[in-house]
Amino acid sequence: MNNIKFTKLNVRAVNVPLKKPIIAHLGTFKEWPYICVDVYTNTDIIGRSYIGPYLVNQLPSIVKCINALSSFFINREIKPFDFYQEGFRKLALLGYQGIGLYSLSALDIAFWDAYSKSANLPLATLLGGDLKPLKTYNSRGLWLIPLEDIDKEIHELIKENEFYALKARIGRKTLKDDIFVIEKIKKICGENVDIMTDFNCCYDYDTALKRMLALDNIGLYWFEEPINYRDYESMSLLTSRLNTPINIGENFHGPSEMFTALSAKASTYIMPDLMRIGGVSGWIKAANIAEAFNIKFSTHLYPEVSAHLMNITPTAHWLEWVDWADPILMDTGYRIKNGHYHIPEIPGTGIKWNEQIIEKFKINI
Ligand SMILES: [Mg+2]
Repeated sequence: MNNIKFTKLNVRAVNVPLKKPIIAHLGTFKEWPYICVDVYTNTDIIGRSYIGPYLVNQLPSIVKCINALSSFFINREIKPFDFYQEGFRKLALLGYQGIGLYSLSALDIAFWDAYSKSANLPLATLLGGDLKPLKTYNSRGLWLIPLEDIDKEIHELIKENEFYALKARIGRKTLKDDIFVIEKIKKICGENVDIMTDFNCCYDYDTALKRMLALDNIGLYWFEEPINYRDYESMSLLTSRLNTPINIGENFHGPSEMFTALSAKASTYIMPDLMRIGGVSGWIKAANIAEAFNIKFSTHLYPEVSAHLMNITPTAHWLEWVDWADPILMDTGYRIKNGHYHIPEIPGTGIKWNEQIIEKFKINI
């Protein structure tokens, strides 16, 4: 492995139109904002990462934070583990969660990309794992769209790339409406399809319990985030009262918060988010905590880097697939075949920019 030095940082922000708008309890999104990070080195290696921190108006503050954090590492030999530990300590005064952690994650993922490229290995291989294909579900549709459009959307989602599992967003106006969506999926895809469902935190405890009990014995694969994501005590009560597994975790800010949730027995499964869990370094810590709790670990967004990390996650479960970032990425060989996500055997994480698209949708930061 070549020792490589971090010499320069380039951070850009884009707001990319989505093929399908996201219609969720939290709002409707027609575009998705991304921050794209390039870590330049004293060789021709460039480490890359993207994060999608949801709120376009907040991008400038996160970019500022990424730049400020990067100044601690400039002109030093890239050591991703050490950089993460040091960067995390530097967050003490800003806070260990939120934009400080997002910024550290963005840098961490790019450092690991550069580091594995310097070893000429895919990230998962560098970390001692395999490049096994991962079972994946299609999560890029079935938002709270009108019921008359559901039929067409299911056909479209299940056909695309041979999926055998889908996620539907529920917590619709009436129980009948939720059942309508689920029955449609079963009718079109057959009884063997796995149906993940997501409430996106739309209920209080009582309302959640009522709706979930009514949906509890129709074979759903999981219920995701029925109530406020920080209410671990109520989440734990729901988990103990329902047969259908409950999955939370996209809102764990760092491995220690995940530890708190697991200690509270808040859910049956977890699904940490690459950006919010602390990038590659944060994920590795989280994966090992999950093993100690013997809890199944799925991913949230970021399919490319998450797929590498699932190969070193002892309790790896499902990979969530979305294509929202595809426009800003070059095709480096990630594929879905027979319900599984395949990782290309190339050095690093396989993140490469489509410069034309980035230029087109670039926003001022
Ligand atoms: Mg969710």
